[in-house]
Amino acid sequence: MAYSTDGFFDSYGGKYVAEVLRRPLDELEEAFKFYMKDKEFLDELDTIRRDYIGRETPLYFAPTATKLLGGAQIYIKLEGLANTGAHKINNAIGQCLLAKRMGKKRIIAETGAGQHGLATAAACAKLGLECIIYMGEIDVKRQQPNVATMEMYGAKVHAVKSGSRTLKDAVNEAMRDWAANVDTTHYVLGSALGPAPFPDIVREFQSVIGYEVERQCKERGIEIGAMVACVGGGSNSIGFFSPFIDKAEPRLIGAEAGGIGPGIGENASRMTGNASREGIVQGYKSRFLLDEDGQALPTRSISAGLDYMGIGPQLAALGEKGRIEFTSVLDKEAIEAIQFFAKNEGILFAMESAHAGAAAMKIAKELPKDKAVIINMSGRGDKDLFITSPVFRKAEWIEFLKAEIERLESGKEIHSSKIM
Ligand SMILES: *Cc1c(COP(=O)(O)O)cnc(C)c1O
Repeated sequence: MAYSTDGFFDSYGGKYVAEVLRRPLDELEEAFKFYMKDKEFLDELDTIRRDYIGRETPLYFAPTATKLLGGAQIYIKLEGLANTGAHKINNAIGQCLLAKRMGKKRIIAETGAGQHGLATAAACAKLGLECIIYMGEIDVKRQQPNVATMEMYGAKVHAVKSGSRTLKDAVNEAMRDWAANVDTTHYVLGSALGPAPFPDIVREFQSVIGYEVERQCKERGIEIGAMVACVGGGSNSIGFFSPFIDKAEPRLIGAEAGGIGPGIGENASRMTGNASREGIVQGYKSRFLLDEDGQALPTRSISAGLDYMGIGPQLAALGEKGRIEFTSVLDKEAIEAIQFFAKNEGILFAMESAHAGAAAMKIAKELPKDKAVIINMSGRGDKDLFITSPVFRKAEWIEFLKAEIERLESGKEIHSSKIM
């Protein structure tokens, strides 16, 4: 077991929050520990995982990639086949079910690019809970497709107009709402970070990925040499690695966003970059991209999900101990990995997950042929059409968007009868 000690993973973690948030966090921790031993709760969670999320997700052997890379066998854990297209639903469903048991009828969540908001909105729709998503006003404008989907699921998207009007401000606003409405409301935090007990809660709900991999490998006699996952806040990676953390093997590798290079503001490399500092931000101690005065530095990545200044405290601790190796992957290497797996295996990685794919392509060559490298494909790439199209076919994409705008403004909407 890799639970924290009083909220700490070595020197990282903790619960650095205002007094008003102590009670809700303590109450949450108590309920979490109780229900994780409650058979009825765990049975219901299992049923929802099977029938709604679509678990277990396949562990796919990639024969062409294996042959072309010429080293270890390549296996891909297809989390992208989970309902809503990524691993985030594992945490959203777990926390919403927990909230329901705690008697909360109202769910709030923060979201940056919209993926966590979308998963939470879907989970609330499925479980019959009211859902409010806090999202920076700038992100609301940038991420209209995800906003539209959240509303389709019945969520109310609240555009946050304070500060830089992005994720950081959405988190602050969600915390404020929670402090004011704790009797009715649960705050679903989206990654394995934030004040304790969130890093433990999110890891446990995501660890279903790792336990499935462990079982699937055992059943099929697969010998794992290395496991590779992308690391934004750290939820898919820590869940995927979870059953193996306390063992010496296999190698565990986290791929961070290398963006366009090693310069300040060019990446989101919290463990491998040169702007990494220890700090306390938004309720927890970890490694962040900060300047000398402790102010947040700008980050950059082609993948919205990895474009974040902080990393979960447990990952930071395991990185310093050397149990998890970190590597950084450039935007262009991630794009190459997307093309490689799409063309050779018919599998379309999300931009985030492609960072794990790219790291695995390098590592596979270092390992013997009788070992497996397991890549966690945290999400599928359908959502990235607006990022990949301008990269692969810019001129056609611009032409398409212009024509769409013209058609909409002229009022000549295509009626569904004509599409069919
Ligand atoms: C959000 C997201 C990530 C990054 O978040 P983690 O908490 O680090 O897992 C990775 N992949 C996909 C597909 C995502 O949507």
